[in-house]
Amino acid sequence: MSQIFSEVLHGYSLFRKKYAVGDNAVMRCLSDSGQKPQIMVVSCCDSRVDPALILQCNPGDLFVVRNVANIVPPYQKDEALHGTSAALEFGICLLNIKHLILLGHSQCGGIDALLNSQNLSQSDFITKWVSSIKIPDVQIKNLDEYAKLALSRSYENCMTFPWIKEKIETQTLTILRWFFDIKTGKIFTYSETSNTYQALEV
Ligand SMILES: [Zn+2]
Repeated sequence: MSQIFSEVLHGYSLFRKKYAVGDNAVMRCLSDSGQKPQIMVVSCCDSRVDPALILQCNPGDLFVVRNVANIVPPYQKDEALHGTSAALEFGICLLNIKHLILLGHSQCGGIDALLNSQNLSQSDFITKWVSSIKIPDVQIKNLDEYAKLALSRSYENCMTFPWIKEKIETQTLTILRWFFDIKTGKIFTYSETSNTYQALEV
């Protein structure tokens, strides 16, 4: 067996001991009571940006949907397949999530694909997917700055979902825009008053 598989199997063994062994194990309790996460995260597939690891959460704490470039597409009720929209509906309408975090990050390959789409013109899915957050008339070529703008685009798209808009208006849901810097491991949060990203205070 390859080295990497030995490592993940060791990890699996540690997981079982910590969360799944014994009558009061976390997984057994979650199985009995069902999941009741309060927070949903839309994050990127990037292997360096794992919400549960960054936030050191337990199983059952976060309802997560991951896609290339952590995009929330606009509300489109048509015949196409909408995996991210289905996850949002599940989290917000069925699980009654209270807080939705849009988690962008630095050095995003999906944003790079958007800004340099000629490199991926032959891709089957990526170029079309990331084009959904293309911002007209914006000339920014800096990946991280564009990724922050893309978070705003996803935020605007959130508001096209009628059940999200209603929950925002009745203050039963909050949406946060967070930007994770891979190099420093720091999270920056969007401030509406200053229209800037500021380091998350802990
Ligand atoms: Zn990414």
